[in-house]
Amino acid sequence: MGRLICLSNRIPTGANPSGGLVVALGDVLSENGGLWIGTSGETVKQPGTELREIKGGPFKRMRFDLTEEEHALYYDGYSNSVLWPLFHGRTDLMQIQQDYLDSYKQVNRRLAKMLAPIIQPEDRIWVHDFHFLPLAYELRTLGVHSPMGFFLHTPFPGPTAMQALPNGREICQWLSNFDLVGLQAERDVRACLASMVEIGEASDLGNGFVHLAPRQCRIEAFPISIDAGEFKTLAEQEIEKLPAGIVKPNRSLMIGVDRLDYSKGVPQRFRAFGEFLERHEDWHRHVSLIQISPPTREGVPAYDDIREETEHLSGRINGQFADIQWAPIRFINRPVPRAVLAGLYRASQVGLVTPLMDGMNLVAKEYIAAQNPENPGVLMLSQFAGAAEQMEEALIVNPHDTEQMATAMLTALMMSLSERRERYHALMKGLTTQDVHWWSKAFLTALG
Ligand code: ADP
Repeated sequence: MGRLICLSNRIPTGANPSGGLVVALGDVLSENGGLWIGTSGETVKQPGTELREIKGGPFKRMRFDLTEEEHALYYDGYSNSVLWPLFHGRTDLMQIQQDYLDSYKQVNRRLAKMLAPIIQPEDRIWVHDFHFLPLAYELRTLGVHSPMGFFLHTPFPGPTAMQALPNGREICQWLSNFDLVGLQAERDVRACLASMVEIGEASDLGNGFVHLAPRQCRIEAFPISIDAGEFKTLAEQEIEKLPAGIVKPNRSLMIGVDRLDYSKGVPQRFRAFGEFLERHEDWHRHVSLIQISPPTREGVPAYDDIREETEHLSGRINGQFADIQWAPIRFINRPVPRAVLAGLYRASQVGLVTPLMDGMNLVAKEYIAAQNPENPGVLMLSQFAGAAEQMEEALIVNPHDTEQMATAMLTALMMSLSERRERYHALMKGLTTQDVHWWSKAFLTALG
């Protein structure tokens, strides 16, 4: 059996690497003498020509570093200011610039050149996410024939959105160089097939197979997940350690946890909560919303705007409704340790996961896994999260519809124990059967 070679934008660099992908892939990587490659997050003066090994850890890791210019053009530019907005239905936020695309291709070519010499014929290669769309194409050009799989952690755009991208056809061509293209949801498979056919001029061969000369690839959904059992145990332990004063008698908690990204629908959530408070004076002082949102991608202008908008809205709602004993929204602008998050999820009666567009949304899964089975909270979930395809027993909402969201908040807060339990058990069953180990196994089995 060959090795698994895994690529992702950022590589976990510590002595004990952690994070969702480490949980999913750690075992496979350490069993087969596998290899994980990614950027370190540090920038360098000159583009390197070799991968550098990261010492220690349970499996072999190799890093490559970006120059400052590559970071600005390839990463902040093409990846985060073109592909990310396009893939999240925000073509209006795309910043199309030729130097972004040039750098994106050049970084992928440089990576392929460093990678090709260390690939052995029986190795399997698993490329993660939108930073590396051209990687298989570049490797094939260098004569690498190994099986190559790609997993996109974001949604995939349909042909109408793809038309906004000057090089949409090229993206389809790049993708066809992978043997397997894994997406989060069936909706993404449909969109990708339609784009491959309409924009890439590929032939749809049925059963997820497309032919785009000279290659054939397979497109399939593999919904990513978490280790639900591990997260449940963590939440059970951590609820005991929450600081005093977070849980108050006669006060329900609603929680939102999202990077401060425009795709997450935080302003829409705040507006709906404002509407709820307008409608229900009897709930004043009896419910608070904790929104935990660390800033992200601070070099990209659209992220300054979303930060300003959310700060303004939370300030306005608190200004309108707060009194000396109660502020309706606690808006926390920093990361919180995973363990504390687990405890907070369990202490919250309602989990608000209301993105405008999201590949999967793991917070939805973490929230459910963290609940107390005897007295579970309610998940309010956007129909636009990939997770909604699997988590039908959540309270499904349309984040654009403020009135519906406000009504759903009341429904969630008032839901009977028996209904909460019923929904929780159905959701938890899904999470334990299709967890993160299932996900990586399903993908690698399909890759063959
Ligand atoms: P995305 O990958 O777009 O950020 P997901 O919901 O799929 O969205 O994954 C987010 C992950 O980041 C979850 O595991 C969540 O627990 C974690 N996370 C989000 N916000 C915070 C925060 N404020 N502090 C710590 N972890 C966070």
